[in-house]
Amino acid sequence: MKTFLKVVGVLLLIIIIAGTSLYWIYVRPFMEKMKHTTTIKYDKELTIVLGGGGNSGVLVSDSLVLVIDTKMDKAADEFYKTVKELAGNKTILVVNTHIHPDHTGGNKNYKGSTIIAGSNYTSEDWKKENGEEGIPTKFLKDRMDISMGDDTVTIFNLHGNIHTPSDVMIYLHRRKMLFAGDVILNKQAPALFGNANPDGYLEAMNELPQQFEIEKIVPGHGEMGGLEIIETFKQFFMDMKTAAADNTKEDELVAKYKDWNQVPRLMSPGATIRFIRDKNDK
Ligand SMILES: [Zn+2]
Repeated sequence: MKTFLKVVGVLLLIIIIAGTSLYWIYVRPFMEKMKHTTTIKYDKELTIVLGGGGNSGVLVSDSLVLVIDTKMDKAADEFYKTVKELAGNKTILVVNTHIHPDHTGGNKNYKGSTIIAGSNYTSEDWKKENGEEGIPTKFLKDRMDISMGDDTVTIFNLHGNIHTPSDVMIYLHRRKMLFAGDVILNKQAPALFGNANPDGYLEAMNELPQQFEIEKIVPGHGEMGGLEIIETFKQFFMDMKTAAADNTKEDELVAKYKDWNQVPRLMSPGATIRFIRDKNDK
């Protein structure tokens, strides 16, 4: 009995040490990096704030101010200050690209504003993920178009499971710019949980350039750029599918993305491969 307890004790200790080191070596640096923000004054009306959670945009027109994703923690409050400075007393319309707290953490600051999210969530789903505050006031089924200054903004629901069961994107027609949420990331491994669907990512990335003339992409995470972000992220999923089907290629294809922002076992090429294999086994 004593030996058994000793073995259990040692095993527990190993698990605790491994978990703690995983946190300190990978998760914490990742979270620290995530807190950092970069503000890009793209033009007179459009400000893009990268980092601090998901990437965000603020588009100001004469009567309306569009806010895309509200960030998390302290960065969410700082971002809200920026929004208020830009918006003055104008009406603010918030869009959440999806339900995850790194994109919705600041919703609570926008009391009284319309908050739009995809329609495949209920307010109950929302409360479970994000708590009682900042629940969207409008769940978008298909798409809506708003005229803002000399641009037209299309907010659209991608339907079906991709990153989440209800991913929303925002396209600015004149600027030819797509705010993509976490369906498109720039050099960051995706967080795949629950109903996430790697084939859905590929379908969406194949269809988007046919639906819209895209020159600029603001991904959910990472630097903004052009269509090459889609090509690179598509290649990532194709490589991970290849590795999932053929484990002799796994090491090489995992190494190909070693410079990407990632957390081993959670958000990484290896985690993506395991997710695809588990999905195929079901
Ligand atoms: Zn995110």
